[in-house]
Amino acid sequence: MKDTIYTIPLTDAFNSEDECPFCYITRNLEQDAISFILGSAYMEDDIREQTDKMGFCKEHYKKMYDYGNRLGTALMLHTHYKALEKELKAKMESFSPSQTSFFSKFKKTKASTDSSLDALPHWIKAQDKSCYICNRIDTNFKRYMDTFFYLYTHNPEFKQLFSNSKGFCITHFGDLMTLSETKLNTSQKESFYPLLFAKMEENLKRIEEDLSWFIDKYDYQNQDAPWKSSKDAIPRGIQKLVGTYVQDPPFKEN
Ligand SMILES: [Zn+2]
Ligand SMILES: [Zn+2]
Repeated sequence: MKDTIYTIPLTDAFNSEDECPFCYITRNLEQDAISFILGSAYMEDDIREQTDKMGFCKEHYKKMYDYGNRLGTALMLHTHYKALEKELKAKMESFSPSQTSFFSKFKKTKASTDSSLDALPHWIKAQDKSCYICNRIDTNFKRYMDTFFYLYTHNPEFKQLFSNSKGFCITHFGDLMTLSETKLNTSQKESFYPLLFAKMEENLKRIEEDLSWFIDKYDYQNQDAPWKSSKDAIPRGIQKLVGTYVQDPPFKEN
């Protein structure tokens, strides 16, 4: 793997001074996915086949609604409904309730582990998580993660960018921990983990201190004191924990 279409956006993300470069990447991927699907992609048969099957998650229905293109949304919803009704009908037809006698309430019956009995609740749960936009983001995000480990191990300038960064949110720190297991060799791990852990510690502490000063600013004695870097301590503090930009206005069709 040489320089790819992922190298420049990834380098930009590390130069952005964001609380987490991977949150920055994810936000761009999400906006790209929303404008893609609500642009004109929903009119393409192969794409529509996927949205019919997958639908969208709670969060992305909200973001699609905020974005605009009501007709596009209605068209996708309509054919997704048709697909869903058909699939649900088949699931309901093959569903059979378990036999519940007075005594069986008190002991675990074999029926409770029966897969035909679990099939419908499992299917319903899976619908909740199934999302065309999440899926599209995940596919591209994996490529950015691969690019990260490639650049980290092959490009000294990128390694420097990494060590100058503000660390990562807890969610993406988790992704880095999971992937580093297979992406790095033993000697690379020896230098990667101490650096990554130091970044996390140092930057969580920095935000903790920003929050502390934010609170102190409410003391009347500090009312004329400068905000320092605390003014946006709440949105940055939340992003660092769960990887979301609470202060972002809704992303809209222009
Ligand atoms: Zn993040
Ligand atoms: Zn989603």
